[in-house]
Amino acid sequence: MSSIQPVRGTHDLIGEGQRRHAHVVNTARRIADVYGFDEWATPIFEDTRVFSRSLGDTSDVVSKEMYSFSDRDGESLTLRPEGTAAICRALVTNALTQSLPQKVFYAGPMFRHERPQKGRYRQFHQIGAELLGAAEPLADAEAIAMGYEVLKALGIADYVTLELNTLGDAASRDAWRDALVAYFSAHKDKLSADSLTRLEKNPLRILDSKDAGDKVLVADAPMMAEFLTPEARAFWDDLRKKLDVFGIAYTVNPSIVRGLDYYNHTTFEFVTNRLGSQGTVLAGGRYDGLVKQMGGPEVPAIGWAAGIERLSMLLEQVPPAPRSVVLVPVGAPDESAVVQILQGLRGQGVRTEIGYKGSLRKRMERAGKQNASHVLFLGEDELAKGLFRVKNMETGAEQEVSRDALLSKAQDVFAA
Ligand code: ATP
Ligand code: MG
Repeated sequence: MSSIQPVRGTHDLIGEGQRRHAHVVNTARRIADVYGFDEWATPIFEDTRVFSRSLGDTSDVVSKEMYSFSDRDGESLTLRPEGTAAICRALVTNALTQSLPQKVFYAGPMFRHERPQKGRYRQFHQIGAELLGAAEPLADAEAIAMGYEVLKALGIADYVTLELNTLGDAASRDAWRDALVAYFSAHKDKLSADSLTRLEKNPLRILDSKDAGDKVLVADAPMMAEFLTPEARAFWDDLRKKLDVFGIAYTVNPSIVRGLDYYNHTTFEFVTNRLGSQGTVLAGGRYDGLVKQMGGPEVPAIGWAAGIERLSMLLEQVPPAPRSVVLVPVGAPDESAVVQILQGLRGQGVRTEIGYKGSLRKRMERAGKQNASHVLFLGEDELAKGLFRVKNMETGAEQEVSRDALLSKAQDVFAA
């Protein structure tokens, strides 16, 4: 029978791939904790409206990338394409809008029906942070600083740059929107079909277009900066001062509008040139209107998400494969005595394994393949005397150790 293949755009995490992945998550978790963020885990599927209400009908995600289905009760559900909307839903449904601010960290799989390529998958994974209930630029700076700290701790901060932009407040955006409509309407004939639709429904989306012809037009489009209200300008100026205080370098890039509709004021992306066209590794912004769209009160918020696969690919130091102490029974020793030592070592936190069958030679071969750090020989004689041979597989050196040492100082024994 032919084997069943994994679904296109999905991958298994095994061996080095999983170690890279876990290293990214564990590192981010540690930094999140230092910054006072608590981890939340929300369901992998939600009522479709959680995403359709918030991300915007004309966003790529809602218009063509969502995995939506109706379940056996006829409810429309969607595999989450991103984390922020679900965190806002959870904030509201857990009545946590009463206890703000909430600082949230999350990690887990996301699902988007995209064309798979390097750094782009249909099931991918994100780490993310949301700071809910803070309207001040200090919160934006803190969220960005935390993201930067994660990149630093992963050893990749040197290959990424922070690109920063502002989308202003509602009044700035309305004025800008009118100017964009006027500009793109005058160049209708050169717009892609998708962007013609966007022009009707959501002209800002054109700025995020990946079409080459659109990009040429976008380069000369009116800039947000010209339309900022005094309040929005003050916010923007303040944010940049705060980033200086945190010691975070950035370049201003007016085309960072982000792919989802819910952003205002701050938007940012950490980008690298080491991943081809999939160069954005961590991205986010301020989304003051989103919690209200989820049926909650007005809650200002700022957050970001980063693709774990892209971060994993950038890691230069791969976490090493774990090494075990392998017990090799010689002859036919008493099994309960062997198990006593096996469990005694594990009880002291030593990664210990035992071969289940085969000759001494076979078991040694297997220990080599398992990347054993040490082999502990257990024969009838050794068990009777309480003295055992330990072989260091790295150096080949052997030493003799007592049962007492094994059962009480195993960490010292296997440090050698
Ligand atoms: P892109 O422009 O690359 O499609 P996006 O704007 O859709 O990105 P966000 O929704 O902001 O991405 O997600 C945040 C991060 O998640 C991205 O910067 C990227 O690192 C990662 N990411 C997004 N989509 C995918 C995917 N399909 N496969 C792998 N990683 C992804
Ligand atoms: Mg995308």
